[in-house]
Amino acid sequence: QLAEWAKLVNEPSVSNDGKHVELVANIGTPKDVEGALNNGAEGVGLFRTEFLYMGRDELPSEEDQYNSYKAVLEGMKGKPVVVRTLDIGGDKELSYLKLPEEMNPFLGFRAIRLCLERTDIFRTQLRALLRASVHGNLKIMFPMIATLDEFRKAKQLFLEEKENLKNEGVPTSDSIELGIMVEIPSTAVLADQFAKEVDFFSIGTNDLIQYTMEADRMNERVSYLYQPYNPSILRLVKMVIDASHKEGKWTGMCGEMAGDETAIPLLLGLGLDEFSMSATSILKARSLISKLSAKEMEELAANALQKSTVGEVIELVQSAVTK
Ligand code: PEP
Ligand code: MG
Repeated sequence: QLAEWAKLVNEPSVSNDGKHVELVANIGTPKDVEGALNNGAEGVGLFRTEFLYMGRDELPSEEDQYNSYKAVLEGMKGKPVVVRTLDIGGDKELSYLKLPEEMNPFLGFRAIRLCLERTDIFRTQLRALLRASVHGNLKIMFPMIATLDEFRKAKQLFLEEKENLKNEGVPTSDSIELGIMVEIPSTAVLADQFAKEVDFFSIGTNDLIQYTMEADRMNERVSYLYQPYNPSILRLVKMVIDASHKEGKWTGMCGEMAGDETAIPLLLGLGLDEFSMSATSILKARSLISKLSAKEMEELAANALQKSTVGEVIELVQSAVTK
């Protein structure tokens, strides 16, 4: 099997009836680029930038950040790289950023909420990203977007920093796509409106499932409710994909679900364009997709959307994919 997968390293990701998708990697530092390429990644679908901010005593400088983003963009040799802006807060604390304690940190002041208030931190990151953008194919996405106003504000700050750099004579790319993570149910429900303004969606199922099922993703006691194949989750995913396609945009997924063997047939059938996963899952996923018919998976997904429990969905997928 390993030998079979290895042959797929430089191959595109295509179903047996000719449907192309992108299989890309989740990375956490520039050091992960090598592993992504060795495992056949067609790009980076999620570069978590928190590492820049963690394990140190002060905020990372613009220059520090620029060097890391440049390293990833150059390392990926023109392949698309989706960088997520700072997703701190919740469980991730920074010693040098004193934030008041909260009753419910996962429902609190974090990610884009923090960045839109601490615009000094956010602007520095955006400037570093803009400067690095000339070194590859950069896309930027904002985490934890709950409202269109948040996206508009974030985009405004991005455009202001682009203008500032222009005035300083610093070159930046004019083709940076701006997207959002869909990981809060309100955003999935309103995807048709978001799709008119964003360039792409990336569904963050780790949080989307947690917030939809109201089940802490780290809590063993309620892990039985953490159900990626629950028809409610599949319907949200479908809404997001359909909304993006209607506006000529694309949808990726960067939560764990994107690399899950039971989910992949369903996601292929729902029309997901980009699957972002840990590098070591890519070749296995490419092999699986090459054996599936996208047409048949469309039917499978349509059936799954009509099921009422997660058990029924799992049974459906197993009977379709092992036959
Ligand atoms: C997600 O929520 O699915 C996601 C990819 O982001 P993180 O796991 O970093 O919260
Ligand atoms: Mg998340």
